[in-house]
Amino acid sequence: MLSFSELVRTIGPYGGYKLASKLTRSYPRILMYHRFSMKGGSGSLSKGMLERQFSYLKENFDVLSLSDALSECDSPISKKKPIVSLTIDDGYRDFYEFCFPLLKKYEFPATFYVATDFVGQGIWLWHDKLKWIIDSNSVISESLYIKEHKYTPEYWCNNKDTLWRDLVSVMLRMSGEEIENILDKLSFLTKAKIPESPTADYCSVSWAELREMQAARVSIGGHTKSHYSLGHLSVGDVKSQVLGCRDHLSHELGEQSRHFCFPNGQPADITGSAKAMVKSAGFESAVAAYYDKSGVTDRFSMSRHGVGESWFEFQKSVWGIDRLGAQLFNRNSTFDWGEVCPQK
Ligand SMILES: [Zn+2]
Repeated sequence: MLSFSELVRTIGPYGGYKLASKLTRSYPRILMYHRFSMKGGSGSLSKGMLERQFSYLKENFDVLSLSDALSECDSPISKKKPIVSLTIDDGYRDFYEFCFPLLKKYEFPATFYVATDFVGQGIWLWHDKLKWIIDSNSVISESLYIKEHKYTPEYWCNNKDTLWRDLVSVMLRMSGEEIENILDKLSFLTKAKIPESPTADYCSVSWAELREMQAARVSIGGHTKSHYSLGHLSVGDVKSQVLGCRDHLSHELGEQSRHFCFPNGQPADITGSAKAMVKSAGFESAVAAYYDKSGVTDRFSMSRHGVGESWFEFQKSVWGIDRLGAQLFNRNSTFDWGEVCPQK
């Protein structure tokens, strides 16, 4: 029997895409991007593939701002072309360098979610700092204990490929203070000389660049202050992360309606109380980092479709195949770091 992907590959180009598109036309496809580079690799999308995608979108889809896409799907008038909205997470400078020029060229709006301490204070995102420490040929002088997990110097040396995901999966379930304590401990154990500000691979845009982009149809959204999972913080810390982010954006970029994005964006990161906080802070909507059958019915945990180098996966997202799979077969794209790297 054909798998779902094989079935799509077989019938997609022969009318399957168009049919899926018709069946899902009221559903705005919110695409999710993260990093960009000239040639791709290391989790970044190449400039060439991004341009291929944009050119395809220009021809076949209506690319709308998130606010417009959401009002369109509330309206009963069915559009000729399916609606796509572009969203980009985190606040890295490679967005300004590689994606923003193409947004201008194709006259596309987009939403760029930024972690405000990353942009405003020139500090590392915690998972990047961890990656930098691991990648810097580090060894640890004694075992590292994180809750019930033990990382011996031998384990550290022999599992460099999976160590980052392994540690992220554990640290995601912690408070900001605990995460920073582990990074301090690691800096001590490895004697790594961590640069004060992120290195070129990990640096953020500036407020001036954000102002320039905001004036050119890029809506700047909130992504908390420090990029900790809101599902694992105290009520007070969630409040500080959400309101602090909102106020910093208003102070630097002016008061306006903004959207929000949950860090890590998986079901465990999007609690009812965190959603309520985001809503009461005045954000217009909030997005998750996965899709499921609920689609965009809950405007404070809306489905998104991740975009990478695969043309096939891109087509499945934009033509609504993923949406149909979610509706008909309850498929979803939730992601658990712990399953990728089973904890010891
Ligand atoms: Zn993020």
